[in-house]
Amino acid sequence: MESQSLQFHNQLHVVFLSYPSPGHMNPMIDTARLFAMHGVNVTIITTHANASTFQKAIDSDTSLGYSIKTQLIQFPSAQVGLPDGVENMKDGTSTEIIGKIGLGISMLQDPTEALFQDLQPDCIVTDMMLPWTVEAAAKLGIPRIHYNSSSYFSNCAEHFIMKYRPNDNLVSDTQKFTIPGLPHTIEMTPLQLPFWIRSQSFATAYFEAIYESQKRSYGTLCNSFHELESDYENICNTTLGIKSWSVGPVSSWANKDDENKGNRGHIEELGKEADWLNWLNSKQNESVLYVSFGSLTRLDNAQIVEIAHGLENSGHNFIWVVRKKESDESENNFLQDFEERMKERKKGYIIWNWAPQLLILDHPAIGGIVTHCGWNSTLESLNAGLPMITWPRFGDQFYNEKLLVDVLKIGVSVGAKENKMRTSTESKDVVVKREEIAKAVEILMGSGQESKEMRMRAKKLGEAAKRTIEEGGDSYNNLIQLIDELKSLKKSKALGEKAD
Ligand code: UDP
Repeated sequence: MESQSLQFHNQLHVVFLSYPSPGHMNPMIDTARLFAMHGVNVTIITTHANASTFQKAIDSDTSLGYSIKTQLIQFPSAQVGLPDGVENMKDGTSTEIIGKIGLGISMLQDPTEALFQDLQPDCIVTDMMLPWTVEAAAKLGIPRIHYNSSSYFSNCAEHFIMKYRPNDNLVSDTQKFTIPGLPHTIEMTPLQLPFWIRSQSFATAYFEAIYESQKRSYGTLCNSFHELESDYENICNTTLGIKSWSVGPVSSWANKDDENKGNRGHIEELGKEADWLNWLNSKQNESVLYVSFGSLTRLDNAQIVEIAHGLENSGHNFIWVVRKKESDESENNFLQDFEERMKERKKGYIIWNWAPQLLILDHPAIGGIVTHCGWNSTLESLNAGLPMITWPRFGDQFYNEKLLVDVLKIGVSVGAKENKMRTSTESKDVVVKREEIAKAVEILMGSGQESKEMRMRAKKLGEAAKRTIEEGGDSYNNLIQLIDELKSLKKSKALGEKAD
């Protein structure tokens, strides 16, 4: 018993704290589980509703003997005026609700700090969106690892744009500029930049604090891998002076079996005889386009209608994830008619609200994806060796599009022009039209040379993504090296305390 408690005491204890949205939580929970699978004692701090989306995976890891647990804190639902269970940014259906969820998240700072004090971990790994944690770690005298939820590319691009402001003083919002400091020639327009860079707003100071906290952290963890973005990994480590570890793609590393993949980040159980699976099984290899805009984007009616017609007119098979809007009867009617028509013609399948994305992307019938370029969807598609139609909507997604189209050359841009606020809907003249959508689908899914070459490059990257997480691969080695380094720090600290 004594030796067991001694062993527990000596084991490296790392606390993980995520930002509650699927794009941030999914990779962090996967990373926390990977730490536990490699001998670390892991605690994940989260709220009740968020825990329910991943607890099953944690319980299964525990039953396999890994040292990992969830520590719950109370989301202040009543205080911010939200119903119970609305604790995640994906539940934000309006600016008002998003504001309330954001307020609730900020109110978690005090109880979380108190918990850090109780737990006395050796290190905290916290999401980039929680810059205050750098101070919390300093108070405890432990390292804080900044968890970067996007690409190295977007990190570097944004850094140089903020530093040199090439977007200022142009004649219009649609005039192109070249991003300075990057090894590739990357052109963007001011309209494609996040709103907090275009003009000073409440979010500008917040993002400045995020970058400041990254510099002051012990290092940065990135869900990326060396072969994918080595130039940008290098700039981050040298020019920006940020010590970083690429440990991705964590989705395929942590979720090996179908049950884990199917239930990842979602509370509902996956049915055994899933209808979408039967539908995909009936299709030829690489003949279906998967269409998804991630967990946060909400498209308005005009854009939904154009997508439906664009997909239908393209003549290619598709499987499309659509979030149902309870309030919009005309949209729901239109989509129900469309769904029936596509089912009859065996051309298209709609998944309502939430798709088991990792399973779908792995299916041999899938031949490409329409993506909003959220970093996780990007990596997950890449891991499956799929070329993409890029359709960024907000935040870092326009940078990721540039990486896919201009650097990696595995993406066809649908031609999105404006980086929006997350909840904004488009006016009639900024929707992407059905002709543009059908054209991009034809380029990607057709049998032309461009498609063949993109497909080949995407497959190569998919193979590299699989190699890097195997024993001896770059991401594998980086994770082991980071854990060893944290163990050494713990040891030196203990020796220092003994000597005092
Ligand atoms: N996701 C999913 N099913 C869905 C929508 C999203 O499993 O129907 C997952 C997806 O696999 C990814 C995450 O949610 O891991 C979304 O993150 P991403 O960075 O792609 O975009 P965001 O939602 O943050 O815009």
